[in-house]
Amino acid sequence: MTSLADLPLREDLRGDKPYGAPQLDVPVQLNTNENPYGPSPELVRALGEAVAAAAGELNRYPDRDAMALRADLAAYLNAESGTDLDASRVWAANGSNEIILQILQAFGGPGRTALGFEPSYSMHPTITKVANTGWINAFRAEDFGLEADRAIEAITEHRPDVVFLTSPNNPTGTALDHGAIKAVLDVAPGMVVVDEAYGEFRRAGTPSALELLPGNPRLIVTRTMSKAFALAGARLGYLAADPAVLEALLLVRMPYHLSTVTQAVARTALAFSGELLGYVEELRRERDATVAWLRAEGFRVADSDANFVLFGEFADRDAVWRRMLDHGVLIRVVGPPTWMRVTVGTPQEMAAFRNALKESV
Ligand code: PMP
Repeated sequence: MTSLADLPLREDLRGDKPYGAPQLDVPVQLNTNENPYGPSPELVRALGEAVAAAAGELNRYPDRDAMALRADLAAYLNAESGTDLDASRVWAANGSNEIILQILQAFGGPGRTALGFEPSYSMHPTITKVANTGWINAFRAEDFGLEADRAIEAITEHRPDVVFLTSPNNPTGTALDHGAIKAVLDVAPGMVVVDEAYGEFRRAGTPSALELLPGNPRLIVTRTMSKAFALAGARLGYLAADPAVLEALLLVRMPYHLSTVTQAVARTALAFSGELLGYVEELRRERDATVAWLRAEGFRVADSDANFVLFGEFADRDAVWRRMLDHGVLIRVVGPPTWMRVTVGTPQEMAAFRNALKESV
């Protein structure tokens, strides 16, 4: 039998493990920051009709540049964040993971580097490596925020071609203010990516980096329909940036990367954005209640502007994780070694989480 070791795999990938958040069929799944609220029967019907219409055209390639979808996404961002974007400044791909890959293919590459502030989203370094780009670890402060002085120091020392900032940050939930982002933009010699996958969950008063786009052509803000939009299964991520950035991405994207079906599903979901985003406020409330409960129980808890909460500290988090799983509740072992992350679910799911945690510590 052939094993992987027998194949001429890239040397730098030997021994690597594939991305693998457990996908287990348990009653309460709170481990991948999905939205617990699925589409309504009306939306399911509309999606069915949109897919049926798209099906009749599947002999043809999709609109390669997804112009109608990009215009809809721009209109959505303008309504959500008060920006003035149009399709020339918004780009879409299969999940924001593919968006990040395209950014690195265009602005990273052999001999180049990307820098991020850990703990943060583990796929940033992984995608960076896949794109043959060097990775530099810088660090967040004790409270998981970004210290502007230390960030400036790290960027000045390493002069990375791409800087990743994640706000709200995964897995800590920490949001960045404009001051920190501006400080990075001032010194970064290359592109600055603000990953706002959880942007819609930010607290009232927390600004979006989208507001900084005018006058900053090296800033890219990435978003996704996987989280607040409750559309993880459709795989639709997007970014807002200067039109010149989109010109660069056109050089690396695969032709027809976004299927006709994906474009139709995403446009239909955007037409129902009121419904899909209707639960964001409820999830924010449930998040704040979860933080308060965990603190009352004596845990350390990171402030969260996202739909998840990082808490600790556990001498043996793997054992607690397994005991919670025995109670039918799946959370995530991620972040600093003594912490774990729980995604905010429905009130019933969070009650199950609280009970399972009490039984498991
Ligand atoms: N960025 C961050 C910070 C994330 O947490 C995730 C998903 N966990 C993504 C990007 C990718 O999401 P998607 O590919 O579903 O858009």
